[in-house]
Amino acid sequence: MHYFQYKDEQLHAEEVSIKDIVERVGTPAYIYSHATLERHFKAMDDAFAGTPHTICYSVKANSSLGVLKTFINLGGGVDIVSGGELYRALAAGVDPKKVVYSGVGKRDDEIAYALDSGILLFNVESEQELDRIDMVAGHLGKKAGIALRVNPDVDPETHPYITTGLKKAKFGINIERALEQYARAKTLQNLEIIGVDCHIGSQLTKVSPFVDTIKKLKRLVAGVREMGIDLKYLDLGGGLGIQYNDEVPPLPSEYGKAILEETKDLGLHLLFEPGRNLVGNAGILVAKCLFTKKGDEKDFIIIDAGMNDLARPALYGSFHGVQPVVKDQEGTVVADIVGPICESGDFLVKEREVPNFKQGDFVAFMSAGAYGFTMSSNYNSRPRVPEIMVKGDRYEVIREREKVEDLIKGEHLPSFL
Ligand SMILES: *Cc1c(COP(=O)(O)O)cnc(C)c1O
Repeated sequence: MHYFQYKDEQLHAEEVSIKDIVERVGTPAYIYSHATLERHFKAMDDAFAGTPHTICYSVKANSSLGVLKTFINLGGGVDIVSGGELYRALAAGVDPKKVVYSGVGKRDDEIAYALDSGILLFNVESEQELDRIDMVAGHLGKKAGIALRVNPDVDPETHPYITTGLKKAKFGINIERALEQYARAKTLQNLEIIGVDCHIGSQLTKVSPFVDTIKKLKRLVAGVREMGIDLKYLDLGGGLGIQYNDEVPPLPSEYGKAILEETKDLGLHLLFEPGRNLVGNAGILVAKCLFTKKGDEKDFIIIDAGMNDLARPALYGSFHGVQPVVKDQEGTVVADIVGPICESGDFLVKEREVPNFKQGDFVAFMSAGAYGFTMSSNYNSRPRVPEIMVKGDRYEVIREREKVEDLIKGEHLPSFL
């Protein structure tokens, strides 16, 4: 069951007409389906039923408080990569004991904030970071739970910009040097070594790279235990892909089955950090067609959303499905769908057959719930767009559209001008 469906030629999110929403809140706007968020979380959670595990949703995929609260209500924790994400997750009511903190560049103040908040563990990505966390924990008189993020040198076969587990990546500690670092961590007084962590990339459409990774991690776990370290957690990161176009990613149940098969005898509590898989297909971006333009070589559909609102096509050449909010177009056209930004990279669709949109039509970009709003910016001094959550026959604005006044908030004209 898909929660973005047509009824009487009008696109709906659950029971609510998208046209009704955007006629009230305007365009562009992100619209999320609560039922889809819940279904995706439960599918992931159910895939590991019967095994001790925690789903630590990766906040960077979509950090709206409403989205965070939806998962927290279902028992979820979070994976954060900054102090700002920790602040959001705490504001949404997360249990600090279900927070894991990843990222290659943690600052002292962020480490201290996380320690004061009582998070479960830090996924440590370098030798120097180990020392730093030990030092900050010492100053605060606390013990920091840690896992080492190891880089297993496995190719996830995804886009190079979202590949993180190869030797040449900036992420994690080379698995061949991980044992040395566990030994070193053991000598540091203010650390409690409780886990092994990895995250190999995003939008994976096969199970095999996850399985290959676990095989390597198992050897490491055995080595760490031989040192007398009492490991409790195995964090397998996120990365499970979704369908944007014609890719066929494994179902969470298939992913779960393969992982449980490999990990069943380890006696470790499993942690997962899914982002895209939970939110990607739970959101759409809706824009309005401002103009259509016949070029010499191709046609353009110019809309009121741009690369600052949805960066993925410009950044990775990503595909987003395009659907009319009201189906009343005549035929199709091969066109670029472009935004108002003064950059040639400002396209959401490149040379694709799409409905023959006319001025004033509302255009929905599908699968925009992950890395959509969170990657948006104010480039070209464009206020960021609102976010709306639909639940059944109700909807609410969960983040207001920014106003032009917001664009200069915190700016000061220097006194010498
Ligand atoms: C981005 C990220 C995730 C989430 O990745 P998805 O592909 O969205 O599931 C999980 N863990 C870490 C460390 C990340 O950086």
